[in-house]
Amino acid sequence: MTELTVDKTRLTLVQGDITVQQVDAIVNAANSALRGGGGVDGAIHRAGGPDIMAECRRIGGCPPGQAVRTTAGRLSANHVIHTVGPVWSGGDAGEPDLLASAYRRSLEVAAAHGARTVAFPSISTGVYGYPKDLAAETALDAVTTAVINLDIDQVRFVVFGDDDLEIYQRAMQARASE
Ligand code: ADP
Repeated sequence: MTELTVDKTRLTLVQGDITVQQVDAIVNAANSALRGGGGVDGAIHRAGGPDIMAECRRIGGCPPGQAVRTTAGRLSANHVIHTVGPVWSGGDAGEPDLLASAYRRSLEVAAAHGARTVAFPSISTGVYGYPKDLAAETALDAVTTAVINLDIDQVRFVVFGDDDLEIYQRAMQARASE
């Protein structure tokens, strides 16, 4: 199971590098200072070039659960949506709401800029330590709810590791048979 349809939007799943996806908008798992870092953030800035960071500096920052848009530099996408997921600290500090908000706000900002295809990494599941299975459930729930009100044709979940692929496949399968 690598595809689900919600209302008019296709949710798809691929394993690979988000920077090479042919989509209108790529979502970055950024930090609040928008200063780049390791993981997917580092990969996007390396592949996209310095224009993206210059714009991040002008914007200045982004609180957890929110999202901001920059151009995509050398990437084939038109937009990078920088969102900030929560740092996992046990689950009782509002992490699920913040993670859901990061997905929802990213889609709202992307749609406001006319993006109709949007690729997401698995936000917060790297350095930020969010359990991968819980994060996948929240990601799918949040996206499923958000797209109902937005003109988005496709949301692509781009997973990196084999474990993430299996987790997302299971979660999508469960939703397909509901
Ligand atoms: P966070 O700080 O939000 O946890 P990370 O970048 O550390 O963000 O990790 C988020 C997820 O992105 C992890 O599952 C990681 O394996 C994955 N990832 C890292 N590099 C890439 C990439 N180039 N494309 C897609 N996903 C990536």
